[in-house]
Amino acid sequence: MDLIDKLQTEGILTEDEFCRLLWTEDAALRAKLFMTAQQIALASFGKQIYIRGLIEFTNYCWRDCFYCGLRCANKKLERYRMPNEVILDCCKTGYNMGFRTFVLQGGEDRYYTDEVMCGIIRAIKHLYPDCAITLSLGERSLRSYKELFAAGADRYLLRHETADSLHYSRLHPPSYSLAVRKDCLYDLQSIGYQVGSGFMVGSPYQLTEYLSKDFEFLRKLHPAMIGIGPFIPNKDTPFRHQKAGSLELTLRCIAILRIMFPHANIPSTTALGTLHPEGRLHGILAGANVLMPNLSPIEVQQHYTLYDRIGGVDGSLAENMELLGNQLAAHGYAMVVDRGDYVPEPKKEL
Ligand code: SAH
Ligand code: SF4
Repeated sequence: MDLIDKLQTEGILTEDEFCRLLWTEDAALRAKLFMTAQQIALASFGKQIYIRGLIEFTNYCWRDCFYCGLRCANKKLERYRMPNEVILDCCKTGYNMGFRTFVLQGGEDRYYTDEVMCGIIRAIKHLYPDCAITLSLGERSLRSYKELFAAGADRYLLRHETADSLHYSRLHPPSYSLAVRKDCLYDLQSIGYQVGSGFMVGSPYQLTEYLSKDFEFLRKLHPAMIGIGPFIPNKDTPFRHQKAGSLELTLRCIAILRIMFPHANIPSTTALGTLHPEGRLHGILAGANVLMPNLSPIEVQQHYTLYDRIGGVDGSLAENMELLGNQLAAHGYAMVVDRGDYVPEPKKEL
C-alpha cells in the first residue's frame, strides 16, 4: 500500500507521510496523486464545473494582516465601497451569464453593520431567489453571523490561514488569535451555513509540517468548501520581499484535499491563475471543481489588491469567461448553471 492508497482508505496520513508526499520526486507517485484526485472529482461532480461570481464590494479593512494589501496600515491604497446599485448590477450581469451563486467579499469594514449587510442580502435574494449568497467578511460575532444567515446568506468563507499558532502569530499582529478564528468557523457551522475554510500555500515562515496541521484541522472541521491558494506578495506590505508560493505545491495540496474530501466544493482560485496563465485549469485537473470569476467592474478590481496582480486584472468578464471556457473545453469540462450546493457524502451504514 503506497501513500496514496493509505490516504484514500484512512483519510489522513502522519505528518512525516504528508511531508514526503508534498515533496516527493517519485514521478509515478506524483502522477498517481493527481490521477486519483481527478478521478475522485469526476466521480463526485462529473465534468461539470460550478461557477461563483465574486463581488469585491469593499476594500476598506480595519485589520492589519501582514500578508494582505488591504491591511489598514497600507496608506497607498485608494479605498472604495461599492454603492448598493453597483452590487446589484454585478448580480444582474452575473445572473444573465449563468451565475447562481454570488460571493460578497471584502475587508473587515465596520461601515457594513448587520443592518446594512442584511439589507444587501435581502435585496439580492428578493431579485434572485434561486441564487445562493456566500459571504466572506472575516470575523464577526455569533449574533452577527446569525442575523446574516436569517437574512438569507447561505454560505461563509473564512480561511483559517494556518493551523499552527506560532505561524499564525508571525502572519498577524499579536492580538489576533487562531483560536478565535477557529471558534468563528465552529459558530458558523452551528448556525447552519455551508462553511468554507482553507489556507495559503507558501506563506512566509511556513514549514511543511504546518501544512500537515492544516490537513488535520480541516479533517476535524470537515468543511463544505475548501479554498486554498498560493501566497503572493504585495509590494505595499511588510512581506513585499517574500517569495510567492509555488504552483506545484499548491496543486499537490489541492489533490490531497480532494482525496480527503471527495464531496467538498474546492475552488481553483484566482491566485493560482495569477501565478500561471493556465493555473486555474491545472487546479481543476488536480481535483478542484469550482471557479470564481470576478464580477466586480475592472476599475474596482485594480483597487482590490490582496496581492500584486502580476499579469494585471482579469480583463472583461466576457473575455475571462471565454478564456476559462476554452481551457476547460479542451479537457472536456464545462461550466454549469447551478447553485452547486454542498451535498455531503451519505453516512456509512454500521
Ligand atoms: N477579509 C476577509 C476576506 C478577504 S481576504 C478575510 O480576511 O477573511 C480573503 C483571503 O485572501 C484571505 O483569507 C487570505 O487567505 C487571502 N489573501 C490575502 N492576502 C493574500 C496574499 N498576499 N496572497 C495570497 N492570498 C492572500
Ligand atoms: Fe483585512 Fe482580510 Fe486582508 Fe486581513 S486578509 S487585512 S482581514 S482583507
